[in-house]
Amino acid sequence: MTRRLSPNSTIGIFGGGQLGRMTAMAAARLGYKCHIYAPESDIPASQVSARTTRASYDDAAALAEFARSVDVVTLEFENIPVEAVRRVDAITPVHPGAGVLEICQDRIREKSFLNGIGIATAPWAEVTDLESLQAAEAKIGRPTVLKSARFGYDGKGQAALREGDIAVDVLAAVGADSCILEGFVDFTCEVSVMVARGQDGETAVWPAVENHHVKHILDTTVAPAGVSPGVASKAGEIARHIAREIGLVGVMGVEMFVTPGGDLLVNEMAPRPHNSGHWTIDACLTSQFEQLVRIVCGLPLGSTERHSDAVMKNLIGDDADAWPEILAEPGAFLHLYGKAETRPGRKMGHVTRLKLRKDK
Ligand code: AMP
Repeated sequence: MTRRLSPNSTIGIFGGGQLGRMTAMAAARLGYKCHIYAPESDIPASQVSARTTRASYDDAAALAEFARSVDVVTLEFENIPVEAVRRVDAITPVHPGAGVLEICQDRIREKSFLNGIGIATAPWAEVTDLESLQAAEAKIGRPTVLKSARFGYDGKGQAALREGDIAVDVLAAVGADSCILEGFVDFTCEVSVMVARGQDGETAVWPAVENHHVKHILDTTVAPAGVSPGVASKAGEIARHIAREIGLVGVMGVEMFVTPGGDLLVNEMAPRPHNSGHWTIDACLTSQFEQLVRIVCGLPLGSTERHSDAVMKNLIGDDADAWPEILAEPGAFLHLYGKAETRPGRKMGHVTRLKLRKDK
């Protein structure tokens, strides 16, 4: 049953990064307040939210007080300890729920779930030690990628295994007890789809986009993706199928590899707003952030129609120093995240450049 919250209600958000910040900004536009829960100090989301609780995810008293102070809870990061989500959900509903997080926090569960609902992935096998790595290599061959099963992001906790690499060294480099070995996919491009699913089960997808990474970090998203209409619509159907089967209430980014034959292999999914969906703020009728707010507040889904083609570029480290030049460009929408300290590899902001339609 959909639980509709009226404006002026308060949305709790686990996590205080830029995804929480942009969710809070979308919430404010619709008249909602946000309360951030995060262990870190000086966080981008707090600057635009009514309230912040700074506490660890295992502080039962702080979690209970947070839960009682808000009308619904969502999250901007999927690695929130499931136990914290369960404690809060016992008092106030959390969307997406603990069951979704349990699957998305662990690559072994994630890949097993995907294959179990008929979604293709790269060939993979579970690895816990050298013996299981050798068994996995015997099955998959080389080249492969060894990834830690948990807490990996932006290429962290993963290493390639090519001809000549020493397996035991690669295992040590990844340094995790639970890993997966994945066949290396010789993809023609990487695409992703943002999918939304409401409390009543209604789904919506934004157009598939194409992602380019530099040093394992998303650099650019091109919307729409330069793939055939058939591949684009298949990508959308895959994302909807996953959202329904996992029981998503919220928004989710689904990353996929496109093979030379036009097949789609799902790489991973993130049950929250996603960097490859930032372009929707400036180029679609409803952004991924507004959609998340609509969903958790039990409002009707907004249209995901794209009114402009767009290219989103992340501003990493000192890229953000170019803000005066970006502001001078017509059709460039600058977003800065209010982070005090610039560090190499840190996402400081992004710019979305629209391809403006010329009036006839
Ligand atoms: P992930 O952390 O799984 O999202 O991986 C980060 C990036 O590494 C992906 O976006 C790809 O560019 C690359 N990558 C990961 N897994 C594979 C794979 N099995 N085959 C080829 N490239 C991969």
